[in-house]
Amino acid sequence: MAEVRRPETTEQAPAEPGAGTMEADRKSRPEGTPPGRPGSSPRKRPEGPGSSPRKRPEGPGGPAGPDRPAGSGRPAGPARPRKRHTVRNVLLVLLILIVASLVFIFGINKWRIDFSLVGDDTVTYECGTPYRDEGATAEVTGSVLKFVHHPVRVEISTEGINIHEPGTYYAHYYAEFLWLSVTESRTVKIVDTTPPVIELTHIDDYYTLPHHTYEEEGFTATDNHDGDVTDLVESEERDGVVYYTVTDIAGNTATAEREIFYDDRNAPVFHFANGEEVFLYKGETFKEDVSAEDDADGDVTSRVTRSGTVNKDKIGTYTLTYTVSDEWGNVATKKRYVTVKRKLELPEKMDPDKVIYLTFDDGPGQYTEELLKILKKHKVKATFFVTLAYEDYQYLIKEEYRAGHTVAVHTASHEYSEIYESSDAYWEDFNKVQDVIQKQTRCRSQLFRFPGGASNTISANYCEGIMTQLAEESAVKGYTYVDWNITSGDAGDTTDGDVMYENMMNGIHTYKNSFILCHDIKSYTVAMMDRFITDALKEGYTFLPITSESPTCHHGINN
Ligand SMILES: [Zn+2]
Repeated sequence: MAEVRRPETTEQAPAEPGAGTMEADRKSRPEGTPPGRPGSSPRKRPEGPGSSPRKRPEGPGGPAGPDRPAGSGRPAGPARPRKRHTVRNVLLVLLILIVASLVFIFGINKWRIDFSLVGDDTVTYECGTPYRDEGATAEVTGSVLKFVHHPVRVEISTEGINIHEPGTYYAHYYAEFLWLSVTESRTVKIVDTTPPVIELTHIDDYYTLPHHTYEEEGFTATDNHDGDVTDLVESEERDGVVYYTVTDIAGNTATAEREIFYDDRNAPVFHFANGEEVFLYKGETFKEDVSAEDDADGDVTSRVTRSGTVNKDKIGTYTLTYTVSDEWGNVATKKRYVTVKRKLELPEKMDPDKVIYLTFDDGPGQYTEELLKILKKHKVKATFFVTLAYEDYQYLIKEEYRAGHTVAVHTASHEYSEIYESSDAYWEDFNKVQDVIQKQTRCRSQLFRFPGGASNTISANYCEGIMTQLAEESAVKGYTYVDWNITSGDAGDTTDGDVMYENMMNGIHTYKNSFILCHDIKSYTVAMMDRFITDALKEGYTFLPITSESPTCHHGINN
């Protein structure tokens, strides 16, 4: 603790406070007069044994008597005036000695205020920390009369010290007593040595895919002086760690680190260029077209393994199983059907502008067997879009196939509200039929017909856009849907075979390729079919089953 002490003046004048910061206020007071004793005068004779009035010394040979005036009694001899002179001189010397002592004590002694800071002359505060002055003490004392210690109040001023702005400031002190005063100061340094604080945001369950750049969850940076310095933060990703750095105006740098949490929760996804299901003609070689993509690892096709084989020379549906794992260990497996199908032979002689594709929906049912006989009699092939509605007649699917007709998927339940509720619901219903077809014919079907046709709008009651979605999905799965361009009328418009006949004849005369909608579960349909086929054949028409090579017959999609 440094003590601020006024340098003592070397002037002779009493307590001249002109030197240094001390100022003297002489006023009318005699110099060197000690405070608190304003009336004392150096000329006053102090009392004491050394200053008592001198007795006249006794003369030799007799007791001293009272002085007598000259002329009374004995005439004064020459020794008497000499004696009086001596006394006066002694008194004078004594007086001079006393005065000299007082002058020395009160004139040579110099009064001053002793000032002393509590704490250091220079203090350093961190920016933003409240300043608390430690104070100072002051007392009046004398250079000679050192035993005097009279405390004096010190006024402190810390105005102007801005604790929020780094810089050099001063605390000021002032003390006064009578004509004495002193001003002092303390240096207050406000510094910013505190770096900003970086706070990292952590999102629950947040992860980064392996091999991927970290996507920032967020952060803030705040400085005690600069405030929000988030914009100044620089970050760098290195070896699984994100390093953050920010420097405030004062040059204080803060750093933070974030260890990146890597995770991969998704298995790779397979893609089959030629569709998820494959349909080949007998003798065609199956060409692998798989690829696999992982969200973290990218192309992982080289890691794909496949089990199962395809015999290109034997008709049937084969199951292949693909497996692939990503580097993280997520495994994907997928079953895939490859169907080796029979090749349908076209008649040698046919008019390509007179082709009829008879299609029968919603069977097989109780009239299907009769229909098969009619078709067989005329040696014509048709297409059956089958359901599972009539369990007792499901065996006829096999008969249809054996007879050379095309067996295709229609629907298991034919309930619009169920199958058009969602994509999953649709394909679940679809696969039930496909499985039955596969069981009975050994082959899965490439063709199918949407209940109500692709153009139906009733599906919108159950799922907006479902037809658009299903049409797109069917292509990915490898299926082809087939609609119609001629309606026989047996779906509710008529039960009259003659009306149906007219509808169909008018239709085939309109189109080069006629896709005629009929239902083999209707007796009147089956009943009029012999007449229609007979007459159409007479007119030179050819009846063909639909295959994947047939012309496309698609309604516009309205949902
Ligand atoms: Zn139907």
